[in-house]
Amino acid sequence: MRENYRICNKCVMDTVGDPNIEFDKDGVCQYYRGSEKSLPNFVFTDKQARINQEKLTNEIRTAGKGKEYDCLVGISGGVDSSYTAYWAKEMGLRPLAIHFDNGWNSETAVSNIENLVKKLDIDLYTYVVNWDEFADLQRSFFKASVVDVEMITDNSHKAVSLSVAKKYGIKYHIHGGNFRTENMMPPFWNWNKQDVRNIKSIHKRHGTIPIKSYKYITDSRWEIMRRLGVGGTFVMPLNQMNYSKTKAMELLKNRLGWRYYGGKHFESVFTKFYQAYYLPEKFNIDKRKVHYSSLILNGEISREAAIEELKSPPYKISERETDRAFVLKKLGFSESEWEEIMNTPPKRHLDYKSNYKTRKFIQGIYHKTKKWNPFS
Ligand SMILES: [Zn+2]
Repeated sequence: MRENYRICNKCVMDTVGDPNIEFDKDGVCQYYRGSEKSLPNFVFTDKQARINQEKLTNEIRTAGKGKEYDCLVGISGGVDSSYTAYWAKEMGLRPLAIHFDNGWNSETAVSNIENLVKKLDIDLYTYVVNWDEFADLQRSFFKASVVDVEMITDNSHKAVSLSVAKKYGIKYHIHGGNFRTENMMPPFWNWNKQDVRNIKSIHKRHGTIPIKSYKYITDSRWEIMRRLGVGGTFVMPLNQMNYSKTKAMELLKNRLGWRYYGGKHFESVFTKFYQAYYLPEKFNIDKRKVHYSSLILNGEISREAAIEELKSPPYKISERETDRAFVLKKLGFSESEWEEIMNTPPKRHLDYKSNYKTRKFIQGIYHKTKKWNPFS
C-alpha cells in the first residue's frame, strides 16, 4: 500500500518488506533507536581501543603457545574478514586462514583470497563442500520458499571451522563480524543459523538425494561453546576498535591489492543473486537498507546519499540476467521450476520443524541468570 509507506527519519529502514517496523513520536524506527543505544559500547578512545586489542591479542597468543597457530580466521574475500586477517597479522599473531568454498566464489573473491594469504604470508586451509549434496540443500530451501537460504552455508562454515580448529589444537576463532557496520537486522529477514532441525526438516520435505557429508553444528553445541567457551572461543576483534568499513577498504586496496566486488557480501555469486534478486523480488527485502542504515549510524554515509543509492535497483540489469541464468543452470532449475518457486508465496521457517521453542525456553532461563548481550 503506497499510501501507508513510511521511512525512518534517521535511517533508511522503511515499511517495505518489514511488517514489524515501528516508529516513535519523532518518526525514528526501533532498529535505529536500539542500535543507537548499543553504539557507545563499540566506540572507544584511541587509548582504550589500543588496550582492548592488546588484551585480546595477549589472550590469543597465550592460548597459542607451543602450537603451530595462534588462531583461526575465516576469510571470504570480503572486506570485514580480509581486514580481520590483516589485523591479526599486524598484531603479530600467527593465524591460520580458513576458507569455506561452497562453489559460489566470484573471480574477485578468489583473487582477493590468493592475494591476501600471499601478501600477509599466512597459511590457508580451504574446505570444499560436496557439491551435489550442497546444491540439493540449496535447491530444497528455494523449493521450501523460506527466507534464509544462507543458513546452509553459515551453519556449515562454523562447523567446519570448529573441526579444523580441533585438528590443529586452536582455541580462538577470530571473526570479521562487527556491530558498527552490521546491526539493525529486522527479525524474520533471516533465521537462526544453528536450527539444524529446520534444515533437516526442509531437506526431508524437498530434497532429492541423501545428505551424508554435510557438516553442521547444532544450536546446543553452539551455545555451549559461545556461552561457556567449551570447545573453542569466538571473538570479534573489529568490535574492539573504532571500525570503519570505508577506511578498511582503502587500506586493503592500497596495501594488499584487494578489489571491491560492488556490494555487501557480493564476493559470492550466490549471495549476490540471493540478496539482490531473490530477496527483493520474492520477499520485498532489500538488505542494502540494513547495511546503509548501519553505515549512517556509524557516520560513514549520509541518509540522503543512502536514499539516492536505494533509488537504483540492487542489480545492474545486465548482470542480473547473466547471473540469473548462471545460478539456475548451476542449481539445475528449469525456467518453469524457477517460475513456480518465484510464484509460490513465502513460507515461514516455522512452517517446518524447528528448535525455535527450545531455544526461546533456554534463552528465557539465560535472561534470568545473566544479562543477555548478543554482541558479546
Ligand atoms: Zn531507522
